[in-house]
Amino acid sequence: MVTAIEEIKARIDIAELIGETVRLRHSGKNYTGFCPFHHNVHTPSFAVFSDSGTWRCFGACNEGGDIFRFVMKKDGVDFTEALRKLAARAGVELHPRTAEEAKAEEEHARLRTLLELAATFFRNQLLATPEGAKVLDYLHGRGFSDATLETFQVGLAPAGWDGGIAFLRGKGYSDAELVGAGLAVEGEKSGLRDRFRHRITIPIRDASGRLCGFGARIVDPNDQPKFLNSPQTALFDKGRLLFGLDRAARAMRAAGEAVLVEGYLDVMAVHQAGFENVVSPMGTALTEAQLRLLKRNARRIVLALDPDAAGNAATLRGLELARETLDRGSEPVFDARGLLRYENRLQADLRVAAMPPGRDPDEVVRENPAEWKKRIAEAQPVVLHVLHTLIQGQNLDDPKVKAMVAARMLPLIEDVGDKVERDAYRQQVARTLRVDERTLSGTVAAQRSRRFQRPAVEQGGPVPAPGKSAPREAYNIGLLLRRPDLLFRLDRSFAEIGLERITGEDFLEPGHATIIDSIREAALQGDSEPEEYLAGHVSESLSGTLDAAREALLKFHGEGPPALDEALGSMLRLRWRALERQMIDLRFYLLEIEQPPEGSDVAETVAVRKEALERMNRIGEGMDRIQRALAERTPGDGAHTTIPRRTGNEEI
Ligand SMILES: [Zn+2]
Repeated sequence: MVTAIEEIKARIDIAELIGETVRLRHSGKNYTGFCPFHHNVHTPSFAVFSDSGTWRCFGACNEGGDIFRFVMKKDGVDFTEALRKLAARAGVELHPRTAEEAKAEEEHARLRTLLELAATFFRNQLLATPEGAKVLDYLHGRGFSDATLETFQVGLAPAGWDGGIAFLRGKGYSDAELVGAGLAVEGEKSGLRDRFRHRITIPIRDASGRLCGFGARIVDPNDQPKFLNSPQTALFDKGRLLFGLDRAARAMRAAGEAVLVEGYLDVMAVHQAGFENVVSPMGTALTEAQLRLLKRNARRIVLALDPDAAGNAATLRGLELARETLDRGSEPVFDARGLLRYENRLQADLRVAAMPPGRDPDEVVRENPAEWKKRIAEAQPVVLHVLHTLIQGQNLDDPKVKAMVAARMLPLIEDVGDKVERDAYRQQVARTLRVDERTLSGTVAAQRSRRFQRPAVEQGGPVPAPGKSAPREAYNIGLLLRRPDLLFRLDRSFAEIGLERITGEDFLEPGHATIIDSIREAALQGDSEPEEYLAGHVSESLSGTLDAAREALLKFHGEGPPALDEALGSMLRLRWRALERQMIDLRFYLLEIEQPPEGSDVAETVAVRKEALERMNRIGEGMDRIQRALAERTPGDGAHTTIPRRTGNEEI
């Protein structure tokens, strides 16, 4: 179940979720607004941090958390209910298959058989009719071999109105099923007719090779539209399918690279040339679900776009571009910021390979396979691709051009998740424009503060991703599961050092905070068997998280009794990290209220600022105390070791 929780977190944009309740103001990668949990109308005290997927109130609440905590607090529900709500929103399944789902699965299987029959029917139309012979000639003329057409099961929908319908009715399928499979449409007067008429049909399969629908291209150049897909059906969800993936996945894994092209015929042509790690979306903008499918097979994802799709300086307006291609009838959107967001979230390596001017991938690969290979190998990161596109044909000695390029590039660079990468891009832009890098940073700082925004780099760099701390967190949870009474001893030790007691906020992993709350309740009730208590109080959906915690304890500690020193050292490191995050958050917040929005109460802002500074001091002191305590306990060791120490422990 851990994966379901992770999946939900990855799929839900925290700013979008909270934005439905709180009016958020964009500020770099973060957001601010008025806290929905306490009376807060003048100085915004609430912030949302996209990178870490967390929120925090710097005012009366002084509380924060992830999306689950937000829903729990806002809707007054427990973790299970919050999980259920967010799972539904994210489209993630939490439970085993129900009877209805089993029934739906049966119906889907019948629809699939229907589609397979249709594919065979279309295939026969291509291979065994006079009209088919003409179309086959056309396809051969475009360079497709019989083997490729066979592999992809390319077919032909006949020109009449109900040839397909008559055939499939004859196989025992109802009109409702024909419509449900997306093969027939109900006309107002004409009754049921074939959806695909006089078109080349290309079956579209899911990652497991199951037939979901068809893409269909015109034969007669006067017909419209040029490309037609199956409609959205129970099986065909164009945002979640990639044409060719069933045949490409293995090659993607072997190459460690996935390549995206725009058209089905491009996919077929490139496969035929021996490059099988290539797929195509369904003629719409790339979705996160599609990139996720690719990421499962390869970290490096290359978008092979023809040049006008990849954008030239004239069409890159606002770094977003929508266009219609004649041959594909598609409207791919090259949205650099969107791509960077996906790249961050999926931890992928997204690149753009531009095709030579006026050439589609199928032409490039047919004329010169080596050229294709070279272009894909030389694919550039999204940011550099945009930079090169922007400066193409521009006079870089012109100060106005420099300013234009900087103004477009800098916000984009700020969207890059990795600090080292970000710095490198900034340097590259400075070098390309032949301006001082500090000037460049100054430009963006000025721009941002005018819009009440701060560049990400001034917020103290990226916040550690929750996943990275998972082993230590799981270890601590495992420890406290075995010995809940340790919690009070740890609280006491924390108090001796001058720290507040342990809370859910010391844990970043979703679910861990909830489990800690339950462990505390169990301990308060003097329950020596916390497992039983937890069984009744912790959601079934957290069982995977509990298992992982027990495993982590065994892995780092073994079966022996836990040592207080070990537990304390480990817990102190978690607290140090939590404080560090709060510090980073606070720093961002202080910058934000430096320039309060119009109409805000000046006296209040001053008071809020003073309080925030005091809080910052307290956090800093806490961090110092932890550093000292850790140094005393384990000489020579700072707060950065990632594995709980096992030496010098007093048995308890
Ligand atoms: Zn609040």
